[in-house]
Amino acid sequence: MQRREDHAPIAEKSLEEEKPLYSYEPQPIVKAHIFSFSEILHLIIGSLIVMGVGLSFIFQTDYILMQGLWVLIGASLIFTSIFLFHELAHKAVAMHNGLWAEFRLNIFTSLITLLSIISPIKFISPGSVMVAGESDKRVMGKIAIAGPAVNLMLASLLFILAIFAPNYPFFLITASGAIWGFWMALLNLIPLGILDGAKVFRWNKVVWATIFCVSIILMFFAIIFFL
Ligand SMILES: [Zn+2]
Repeated sequence: MQRREDHAPIAEKSLEEEKPLYSYEPQPIVKAHIFSFSEILHLIIGSLIVMGVGLSFIFQTDYILMQGLWVLIGASLIFTSIFLFHELAHKAVAMHNGLWAEFRLNIFTSLITLLSIISPIKFISPGSVMVAGESDKRVMGKIAIAGPAVNLMLASLLFILAIFAPNYPFFLITASGAIWGFWMALLNLIPLGILDGAKVFRWNKVVWATIFCVSIILMFFAIIFFL
């Protein structure tokens, strides 16, 4: 490689900017925005689909409807937040590992999620966080487990809030949010296809079995306690 010995007058612009003429240092990849415009658009559409499923779930529990509009709005906002935190947890762990990560809708899973509005069994995954860059199954497993782990944490917090709820409407919002959060974690931890559970299972079977059992136990307790 020819080393550049520059005897020519250095352009004034270069001096002003105090940039070296050559450098062997790796250049950092600067990302102007954490979220691209496309990702925000996909997240908004995904949130609306999830909100639709959340509302259909609420309509099955007449108690929430009987308590009035603000309970309905509160519950659907909590449902949508649980979905958003799930996806953002994947993104945060991927970016922490130096990978490119953006949420994108998936037409097939979006349609299944839309069908959940009329179906008694709720499937909630209109899309997923796409990851690009060098990684191995350990990193992919950690990225995958982040979503359900955040669901379990949020749902546990809602569970505790429901236990100490000062009034019945607050209880309904937090209790339905807790069941929704546990259900989302459990569903995504199934070790099949493109679900998070498959990636966690490939990475570490003990970790997968532990978090899967924890989800089942918490879901079981939530149903026994609230229903
Ligand atoms: Zn996920």
